[in-house]
Amino acid sequence: MNASLTPGQTKVDQVRLLIDGQWVESKTSEWRDVVNPATQEVLARVPFATAEELDAAVAAAQRAFKTWKDTPIGARMRIMLRLQALIREHSKRIAVTLSAEQGKTIADAEGDIFRGLEVVEHACSIGTLQMGEFAENVAGGVDTYTLRQPIGVCAGITPFNFPAMIPLWMFPMAIVCGNTFVLKPSEQDPLSTMLLVELAIEAGVPAGVLNVVHGGKQVVDGLCTHSDIKAVSFVGSTEVGTHVYDLAGKHGKRVQSMMGAKNHAVILPDANRTQTLNALAGAAFGAAGQRCMATSVAVFVGKSREWLPELKALASKLKVNAGSEPGTDVGPVISKRAKERVLGLIESGIREGATLELDGRDVKVPGYENGNFVGPTLFSGVTTDMQIYTQEIFGPVLVTLEVDTLDEAIALVNRNPFGNGTGLFTQSGAAARKFQSEIDVGQVGINIPIPVPVPYFSFTGSRGSKLGDLGPYGKQVVQFYTQTKTVTARWFDDDSVNDGVNTTISLR
Ligand code: NAD
Repeated sequence: MNASLTPGQTKVDQVRLLIDGQWVESKTSEWRDVVNPATQEVLARVPFATAEELDAAVAAAQRAFKTWKDTPIGARMRIMLRLQALIREHSKRIAVTLSAEQGKTIADAEGDIFRGLEVVEHACSIGTLQMGEFAENVAGGVDTYTLRQPIGVCAGITPFNFPAMIPLWMFPMAIVCGNTFVLKPSEQDPLSTMLLVELAIEAGVPAGVLNVVHGGKQVVDGLCTHSDIKAVSFVGSTEVGTHVYDLAGKHGKRVQSMMGAKNHAVILPDANRTQTLNALAGAAFGAAGQRCMATSVAVFVGKSREWLPELKALASKLKVNAGSEPGTDVGPVISKRAKERVLGLIESGIREGATLELDGRDVKVPGYENGNFVGPTLFSGVTTDMQIYTQEIFGPVLVTLEVDTLDEAIALVNRNPFGNGTGLFTQSGAAARKFQSEIDVGQVGINIPIPVPVPYFSFTGSRGSKLGDLGPYGKQVVQFYTQTKTVTARWFDDDSVNDGVNTTISLR
């Protein structure tokens, strides 16, 4: 078995489905290759599950819910404790697979797994997270309390860019709250997700509580419209996320849809120059710019515009290579199609009059001539009507704009249709406070380039980056995966006073 195989695969490298605790070979006729983006080596074939297979997965989850919802909190929690220990133990092995199928460096792949592991660790606190509230004596002898009950079968649809972290945002929290789950990983890189699913089974998740179907639009639409699914968590592009939100919403489901981004870093001239430029280069070009929280726009305020040559020098020193090679800073983008799209957008920037300061289009990587590489690319003189500004590029491309004041920068960020992440670089507390208060973006970093919250808080987003009230992980996701029941109760002593018929709405 090579490093890319999971025990959920056959020896011909077919990724399997997980239905009712069984690893199932799909009967579909539609398959897609899982390809190493640095080499084009086919690592496995992933099935696009049939409608019957999807129904079987949902039916298994529905059956399992009957007993799983009543499984004591401590038992659910202990499975998460085992899962976090197993993920820790197997993290390095999974990182190799993740790097091979996704392209990111081994260190970044370990980071992808670690950020998901943190959510599993948080799931171990479900005893307190899922507690209800209690008010004694809301009327004479009457108490009111709330129960946070699981909602049923939930579904998760994940993107290619974090094949460990994002599935781990979803199924551990859903399951630990007492729900059952059907996961649809990205068809582009499902192997590391499957390794984590396998660890969940090893940790003791019972048959049917976690199921996996693979596929594309048909399977996603099937999940969004299935009458037995109560909630859908989606992470991916704005285009697909809006479709999922509308379709699943129309079919009566709770939906959280975490979508695309254009993340601005605003640089004030009083910022720590070295730290800021290092942060910008790392956040713009790391993971080949394929993070939803990547910095893709730098807004230089006032004299900070003079730092551009230094940023260019830093970016040009980053090493482009396969993620598996030591010392790599920038790996390949996920597919040939993604590379074509990034190159097309770079060309549109040139056509529309931006200045190409650093051109990553013709990067050569010895030994990996077929890889989907794009080198760090830097534009200046960008205006807000250009496609390189209006569209999410999702590649190692940083566009820079210049403004004169912080107010102008805030207005610029707030006019952009996306609101996922942003950062302010400054030494001024007053400027930082003004920025955090006035900016309309979900995640705000102050001298932090990629402000992804730790799991005791929730990931969020605004405007074109998120639909639905409640975000992944933290307290919000416990609300998302549970429904509140309010109980108002009075107990009578046998010798209690007969206080007559009450025909009003008041409690007495
Ligand atoms: P994508 O939207 O192409 O795919 C996401 C999921 O939707 C996949 O599982 C895919 O199989 C499915 N899908 C694809 N096309 C579909 C269609 N037409 N109908 C129904 N389902 C479909 O996204 P991606 O390219 O895998 O991931 C990158 C995107 O995800 C970027 O836009 C990035 O910003 C976003 N993202 C957002 C967050 C966040 O938290 N806001 C986090 C990570 C990634």
